[in-house]
This record gives sequence, structure tokens and C-alpha cells, in this order.
Amino acid sequence: MSKVLAVDLGGTKIYSALVNRSGEITSGDIRPTNAQDGYQGVVKRILASIARVNTLDEPAVGVGVAVPAYIDPQEGRILFAPNLKWQAVDLKKDLEDALGLPVWLDNDANLAALGEHRYGAGKGYHNLVYITVSTGVGGGLILDGKLYRGAFGGAGEFGHMIAAPEGPGCSCGNIGCLEGVASGCAIKREAQNLVKSGRGHHMLSLAGTIEKIDARVVGQAAAEGDLDAQEILARAGRYLGIAIASVANLLNPEVFIIGGGVACGVGKLILDPAFNEAYRRTYPPYRDSLKIVPAVLRAQTGVLGAAAYAWDQLDQIKR
Ligand SMILES: [Zn+2]
Repeated sequence: MSKVLAVDLGGTKIYSALVNRSGEITSGDIRPTNAQDGYQGVVKRILASIARVNTLDEPAVGVGVAVPAYIDPQEGRILFAPNLKWQAVDLKKDLEDALGLPVWLDNDANLAALGEHRYGAGKGYHNLVYITVSTGVGGGLILDGKLYRGAFGGAGEFGHMIAAPEGPGCSCGNIGCLEGVASGCAIKREAQNLVKSGRGHHMLSLAGTIEKIDARVVGQAAAEGDLDAQEILARAGRYLGIAIASVANLLNPEVFIIGGGVACGVGKLILDPAFNEAYRRTYPPYRDSLKIVPAVLRAQTGVLGAAAYAWDQLDQIKR
């Protein structure tokens, strides 16, 4: 049975895997990205990681790579990868030259949407919106069964929808983006501000110092019944719900799938307020069809999305 190589290239780690068509990972390798070594250094580490998983008795037929980057969808060139500090690099060509195999790249959030659609919580749906809530907020769209990239490759930037027009500044330079009020960074900022104002004692005692308070600490405090922490997560959830309602009214998808470390870590403490807010704001005739579910692939989201993409591209070549 043939296999593809799938690589989830993150800002902190590289996860490579050999994956069959059913989405089973038969071998895997995880190692640090060491982004500070620069582009050539990271390419070497990707190749070493791939060499570890690509067994000679079952050589792979193609390679899919999920990259935290803006990518030219026609050429597959990386235009800009802020976490890796890369600009205008041709990772597709460099990997193809080194491996002698076809390589396909896409944005990690797009491929996470594809992975959940093919192998995870989105199986069987034709129209879904994938949202990741981790340090930042991102997303990907599957419309009529296909990944939707928009005219210039920028579709699915869920985190930069305006959810709080008067809200805080966003890393993108705008004001009021969802990422500024519902991301792991936003939760951390809210919690630290609360502690600075003299409240949030439980969060402070869990973390030790203000600087160590992050979304994980807020989640732990909330799970232990801390009302301040619960309110911070609920507020982030309500903003998420506002953005979900806007997308529900625009696209009328069958399901919203919520993944990412923060959302998966705190679960219902964010998802329930998000659902309630989204339900209230969704156009009434479609309210009762609103469905928000947690992602299921977790740490495998990136590699399985990259694998699904490689299989799709191989199928297109055969046609
Ligand atoms: Zn923004």
C-alpha cells in the first residue's frame, strides 16, 4: 500500500510522518525546528526528519507540507512566514530537488481544515469552517467539499475578523480583530491585567509570578472553580461566538470545528459561551442548525492535513 510523507513545520517543532490513504501514521519523527539556524538549517532538519520516517521498503510517492506561512497558491512559494522569519523562499523546489519527489505546500490552518474534513470531526460534511484558537486565532474553509483559498490565497483569516471594533490592537496592526480578544495571548493579557488590579489571587498562586500567568494557568484556575478565570474564558468565548455568527450568516456551513491548544485545553469553558453567543446572533431561520464541535486530531492535525493534501494532488495528477 503506497504512502505519502507529511510534514508539519511549526515555529518550535518539525513533525514528519509516513501516512497511508486512510490517514494511518505508520512512522513518525518529531524534532525541534531550531528556527534561529535560518532557512538552510531548517531545510536540513526537515530532510533529516524525513529520512528517519521514509523507510526503503515502502518509499513514499509524494510529500505534503503544512507551513505557518502565506503561500502563493499557484507556485507554492512561501511569501512570508513570520514565526520562522522567512520571506520569499522556495521550500517546494528545494525539497523537490533534494528528495526527487513531488512536494506540495500549504498554510497550516488550511491544511488543518482539510485534515479534520478528511480524517477528523469534519468527516462526511461538505461545508465546514475550521477555527484554531491557540497563541493566535486562525482558520480554514471547506466549501462544497473543497478547500477554499479565496482569490489571492488569503481566505480563512478568521482571527482578523473584526469582533470588537473598539477593542485592543492586533498583531496585524488593525484594531478589534478577534485574535486580540479571543486568543491565548489575549487571555493571558486579560488575566495579567486582572492580577495587576489586585484580583485573580488563585491564578497568581498557581503561576507563582504575574509573568508566568498564561492561558493554561487561566484554564486550570477556571476548572478549579475560580470565577475570575471563568469570566475571562467566557468573555473570549463570547467574542468567538460573535465571529462565528457572522460567518454562519455569511456562509451557512454545516459545522464549525474548533481546534488549537487553548480551545482544546479549556474545552467547554470557551465553547459553551461561544455557542450561546453564536446561537443568539445567528439569523433566526438557521439558528437551530448551528453546530459547533471540538476538533479531534489534536497533535496530528498538521501531518494528517498535509497527507490529505498530498493525496488530493496525486489524484489530480493521475486524472
Ligand atoms: Zn488582526
